[in-house]
Amino acid sequence: MKLIFLGPPGAGKGTIASRISKDLNIPHISTGDLFRKAIKNQTELGKKVQQIIESGDLVPDALTVALVKERLNNPDVENGYILDGFPRTIKQADSLESFSKIDNVINFVISDEQVIQRLSGRRMCKNCGEGYHIENMKPQKEGICDKCGEELIIRPDDTPEAIKNRLAVYYESTAPLIDYYKEKGLLLDIDGAQEVGKVAEATSKAISK
Ligand code: ADP
Ligand code: ADP
Ligand code: ZN
Repeated sequence: MKLIFLGPPGAGKGTIASRISKDLNIPHISTGDLFRKAIKNQTELGKKVQQIIESGDLVPDALTVALVKERLNNPDVENGYILDGFPRTIKQADSLESFSKIDNVINFVISDEQVIQRLSGRRMCKNCGEGYHIENMKPQKEGICDKCGEELIIRPDDTPEAIKNRLAVYYESTAPLIDYYKEKGLLLDIDGAQEVGKVAEATSKAISK
């Protein structure tokens, strides 16, 4: 099963992808996570993209496509994968089509108000990347990751200014992918505003049809 998770920042793509990837035993491939890892390790790529990501702009298509193409060469994608946060532009989607055939695109629908509520309370484990929310998905112990016991941090692109920019970038560059995939008959809309268990359930149901 080859899936794309589409939706505005904060829609819950990462949270749901991490669950579904375990259920289906296919890798969860998040371009955001790959970029953050590169930044953490201060690789050439990481140094190139750090400022762009912190401002909430998109990394250039060529760099992003090359990263995904390389990742999809890994033998672990044999039975499929979930692409979380890729493609984010029509250009990226056209490129993807030239090297992989997607089964379904899950479009998580939430309002701008919810985007802001979710991103402004989002926390991330600095070690394992596990996601939390200060109100919606609290860790057992405040500020500490349930999974690995490390510290939770605020992503540098979850500042009010970067959030505003990311929403604008989403509408300008990424939202056109909704019609793009609808026309190809691949789009499945999911109400992302529901409680997380319900969103996961609706997603599983939609892809098993
Ligand atoms: P995305 O990957 O689409 O940017 P995340 O999965 O990181 O979104 O979720 C954004 C924030 O919202 C996180 O803090 C997460 O804990 C929280 N969240 C995710 N899904 C839900 C949900 N269904 N209800 C409430 N909060 C959620
Ligand atoms: P979010 O959880 O808010 O949806 P991600 O973790 O998916 O954010 O991505 C974080 C940042 O990484 C994006 O704001 C963007 O700068 C960069 N990025 C991730 N995926 C892509 C992509 N497909 N194309 C361009 N830039 C990307
Ligand atoms: Zn952790």
